Amino acid sequence: MTMPAELFPWAPGREGYYGDFGGAFVPEMLHETLAELRAAFDNARRDPAFWKSYVEVMSTYAGRPTPVTYCDNLTRRFGGARIYVKREDLNHTGAHKANNVMGQGLLVQRMGKPRVIAETGAGQHGVATATMAARLGLACTIYMGEEDIARQRPNVFWMEQLGADVVAVTDGTRTLKDAINACLRDWAESMADTHYVLGTVCGPHPFPQMVTYFQSIIGHEARTQMLDATGELPRRVYACVGGGSNASGVFAGFLDDLSVELVGVEAGGKGIDSGKHTARLAGGKGRPGVAQGYKSVFLQNEEGLMQDTYSVAAGLDYIGIGPMLADLHQRGRVRFESATDSEVVEALRLTMRSEGLIPALESAHAFVAAFREAPSLSSADAVLVNQSGRGDKDIFTVADALGDEGWKDFIRRKAASYER
Ligand SMILES: *Cc1c(COP(=O)(O)O)cnc(C)c1O
Repeated sequence: MTMPAELFPWAPGREGYYGDFGGAFVPEMLHETLAELRAAFDNARRDPAFWKSYVEVMSTYAGRPTPVTYCDNLTRRFGGARIYVKREDLNHTGAHKANNVMGQGLLVQRMGKPRVIAETGAGQHGVATATMAARLGLACTIYMGEEDIARQRPNVFWMEQLGADVVAVTDGTRTLKDAINACLRDWAESMADTHYVLGTVCGPHPFPQMVTYFQSIIGHEARTQMLDATGELPRRVYACVGGGSNASGVFAGFLDDLSVELVGVEAGGKGIDSGKHTARLAGGKGRPGVAQGYKSVFLQNEEGLMQDTYSVAAGLDYIGIGPMLADLHQRGRVRFESATDSEVVEALRLTMRSEGLIPALESAHAFVAAFREAPSLSSADAVLVNQSGRGDKDIFTVADALGDEGWKDFIRRKAASYER
């Protein structure tokens, strides 16, 4: 793949702003580090050899290009648009997160820094960062809320086996936002030799731009693959939206194609009216604000206090949304929908049974919207669903949701074996 020169039709303008959103709201002492990062990233993306080395690493280490799969059984079931799936689940570590961490790893090597830090909620970004650090020979510290460590033991196990130092954060609610603050504190003291591997298209400029740049490999591959497979562009592209990196990545390939409708799907949780959800844009409940280093749309009350978010999919459970997506929503280029937990479990079950695919709970949100809309399109239309990751990690949650007795029995026996 050649370097995506025309990559940023919506590149940030004034100081990293996308329309009204973005920017860099950080303590004075981080200004210089962010300036250094901006310079290194600008220099790298103007160098064709850098993109080439990135594509090379992704093809020899991470499994790219990932295929696009035509789903005939699902298509026949819904009787409308032909359904295609972009297979980000086939990346090393099982999700699109590999694209971002390997890209930032190559940049860290260029900057000559020997250490990386990252924050993680559910642990997927921590595991991806730890694989990258092991591969590139970097020291690695992962900040994780004490509460999340207790809930996500399997990922903590793999991070430690991969050689990362996992630090339990005991402040506040002991979850993701406290881990982000701890990570920023570390960075403020260690920036001379340390890079902060931010996990999604949020945070201060240049992170939203840089993470989109690496994730755009999804969209550039998918555009070519859809043209090869169908001779035309898809009518709609669906992606789930947590912070927004897999969506930004796949949308980036189609942003200039105005005939392609882009649909972001947020976590509807137990329903928008229940208050237990993460629908910042689809629900119309989000408000503009500044948090964690950037201006975007957040779920907050009238006093600006951040609200608790909820989703069955841990990766979508985050208050903020990437500033580019907030802008693309405001400009009407991306439509936002939401999917509830129960719709998600149903779509997951159907996808497994019909196609033998096992999407992550996050990705299953995108399938819900595609299934809802496919019947009203014609068989002349193709739609593309981004399967951001694989579902193996969700076995505890999905087995509970489906009430699988054999699984409960297995867990009970396992627990008992430790008590003997
Ligand atoms: C982390 C994760 C997400 C959410 O992150 P985005 O930045 O919104 O892409 C979605 N799907 C999977 C499989 C994930 O692991």
